[in-house]
Amino acid sequence: MRQATIYIDSAALQYNFQRVKQLAPNAKIVSMVKANAYGHGVKDCLAALADSDAFGVACLQEALEIRDLGYQQPITLIEGIFSADEMPIVIAQNIECIVHHQQQLDWLLAHKDAYITQGLKIWVKLNSGMNRLGFKVPEIIDVIHTLKAEGFTCVLAMHFANADADHPLNEQQKAQFLQVKNACAPILASCCNSAAIYKWPELHFDFVRPGIMLYGASPFADQNVHTLDLKPVMTLTAEIIALNQIQPGEQVGYGSTFTAERDMTIAIVSIGYGDGYPRAYVQPNFVAIQGQLTPMIGRVSMDMIAIDVTGLTVKLGTTVELWGKNRLVDEVATANGTIGYELLCRMSARPVRKQI
Ligand SMILES: *Cc1c(COP(=O)(O)O)cnc(C)c1O
Repeated sequence: MRQATIYIDSAALQYNFQRVKQLAPNAKIVSMVKANAYGHGVKDCLAALADSDAFGVACLQEALEIRDLGYQQPITLIEGIFSADEMPIVIAQNIECIVHHQQQLDWLLAHKDAYITQGLKIWVKLNSGMNRLGFKVPEIIDVIHTLKAEGFTCVLAMHFANADADHPLNEQQKAQFLQVKNACAPILASCCNSAAIYKWPELHFDFVRPGIMLYGASPFADQNVHTLDLKPVMTLTAEIIALNQIQPGEQVGYGSTFTAERDMTIAIVSIGYGDGYPRAYVQPNFVAIQGQLTPMIGRVSMDMIAIDVTGLTVKLGTTVELWGKNRLVDEVATANGTIGYELLCRMSARPVRKQI
């Protein structure tokens, strides 16, 4: 059988969850499990994250999947609902919404009594300069005052555009968040993703929203998961399905982009972009064999890649790690001009999935 396998390490996921608890001991943890738990498979991940105070997802379908799996924790829809007909379902299923524009407020107010009776909080999104979603200052202050007067319990919510970097917008976003928080006191508050959890303990407030750190990838370009004391959760492996001896001047793969300069042993490995492995590597890229980094050569095909195994002791069936503990997904991402988040989320359905 073709081997292209995604291993999900539940113990690593639990370890990373405990890291969030250590870093933010006084905040409730909203584990972000959107996009099928960042591609890790929501079912397995929920079991490992069962101590979460709440879960965060991007849409009602994702929230209902969590309910179908039997989890009763609060769920926050981080973009709120997308149409009026979702409101009765949200209320019946105990799902909390963000509001980020007037129409969502109108839908909410039309179901005010049922929403409040269910004990659901409403998350009000501040647009403090990222300019994706939310109400700006000062409008948001009026929105929150109105909601509080109507009897809603509000959470002031905000997302950083540059939590992973030193950027002047960070100070503006923090200042606006604190301004609104003070103007609307007392109010629950939440503004920390993984990077912000590490960088700004003073901003943890009531709810932190870790995503990428739970999965053992780094939110920072300049710090890897080992320095952050996180454990990679996903390992992607395949195996050697052919070994070829080639001579100087011979070429490998589509486009014949690689030309041998010496006698080489190359291995063909059972992984490709049809599995979700990225094709576009722009810097030298590597796989790990028995923990040792081994260079990729030529183009990534739909079902195969080629690697240089000259001098290594390998055979047909030898396991190759595309990413995991020895070759970090963030390193593969850098070689491909992207971020670990994308690679994890975009795995295809073809690799076999196993929980370890
Ligand atoms: C995805 C998301 C997070 C988690 O971000 P990470 O960088 O993965 O920790 C937090 N908050 C919101 C609103 C999000 O959309």
